[in-house]
Amino acid sequence: MAYVLVLNSGSSSVKFQLVDPAGEATDAPLVSGLVEQVGEPMGAVSVTVGGQEHREELEIPTHSFGLERAFAIMGEHNVGPTDVEVIAVGHRVVHGGKLFSEPQLIVDEIESMIEDLIPLAPLHNPANLDGIRVARAMLPDIPHVAVFDTAFFNHIPPAAALYAINSEVASQYDVRRYGFHGTSHEFVSQQVPKLLDKDPATVNQITLHLGNGASAAAIRHGRPIDTSMGLTPLAGLAMGTRCGDIDPGIIFHLVRQAGMSIDEIDNLLNKQSGVKGIAGVNDFRLLRQRIEEQDQDAWLAYNIYIHQLRRFIGSYMIALGRVDAITFTAGVGENDTEVRQDALYNLDMYGIHFDKEANLVRSKEPRMISTADSPVKVFVVPTNEELAIAQKSAAVAAQARAEGLY
Ligand code: ADP
Repeated sequence: MAYVLVLNSGSSSVKFQLVDPAGEATDAPLVSGLVEQVGEPMGAVSVTVGGQEHREELEIPTHSFGLERAFAIMGEHNVGPTDVEVIAVGHRVVHGGKLFSEPQLIVDEIESMIEDLIPLAPLHNPANLDGIRVARAMLPDIPHVAVFDTAFFNHIPPAAALYAINSEVASQYDVRRYGFHGTSHEFVSQQVPKLLDKDPATVNQITLHLGNGASAAAIRHGRPIDTSMGLTPLAGLAMGTRCGDIDPGIIFHLVRQAGMSIDEIDNLLNKQSGVKGIAGVNDFRLLRQRIEEQDQDAWLAYNIYIHQLRRFIGSYMIALGRVDAITFTAGVGENDTEVRQDALYNLDMYGIHFDKEANLVRSKEPRMISTADSPVKVFVVPTNEELAIAQKSAAVAAQARAEGLY
């Protein structure tokens, strides 16, 4: 069987999976793993093969050291990159800017284009690039492919993509809405027409990716027309630790009145806000527990989260005019029955007939949680970004081989 090695490199971590691109969305990967705390005094490499985790704790000075250790552990279980057939390495890249609307075969020129995009994603793209360089050096004979989180939203219409700010400044500094979680919104939205038994070219839908980061997308006939994240992944819905949409004047207020620096505000809004900033926790399982214990802050955080979610659902219904389906995905969207119910509570007059019983069913399969005759159908569709990256990377690699490049 042929596999794609999918890599998601962060500043101090690398997540990886060996994925069968021909597999089903619910299939477990052959291998999954994580290198964490790179550059810290103590780090860890964990590799899960056949449901069994193999973990080592050691100092990991660099990404390449960590990946080499991971490959060695994989090799000890006969599933290393040289033991199985790896047809491509798929790299998740956060920011593709205006440049990329499709996955790219990584050659030196693509690497430098990703480098040029660093000002738009100063925390993410350098880490993604590190991962690309390390993996290309380690596996030089395999095609490497960059799959961009922004690509799906590359062509949203100008009225949604551009901000009402001075256009000279906006164009000089590439200020516009790029959107993120594109691989997930695309993957999930492509499954909905099949569930509706309709031609994708006729389907209007809203997809809600609710993980630790969260975003909404409005999709008309397979193409996104709006999304909640913006220049950065900070915008839109209230999230686990990010604030989502706020009055930009708050930033000036904090600079002037609290004497905070830009970096302090960046940290506050990205890491100490959202549900965590109000309730002290960002995991929805803990939040739910606190709500059950009558914790008022947890209750308030939850209500802000739901209020913001309903705002986006409402505005996307208007933007789309007619909506065939609303779909929940990612950690919270797939698992938290109450978030789904509260997000769509009392919307029958808008054609959303929520099915409370169906909503309580736990499953890893896509499923409908509205009544069968609801004009707007509601679904839960598990996302699988790694499978989507594997499929895109396999296709680009096949093309590269057909062109005799590998
Ligand atoms: P990310 O990829 O952004 O880290 P995920 O899509 O994996 O996010 O979602 C992680 C979040 O999903 C957790 O922080 C937690 O809030 C939520 N989550 C996971 N499992 C459950 C569950 N059983 N019930 C409620 N929320 C859950």
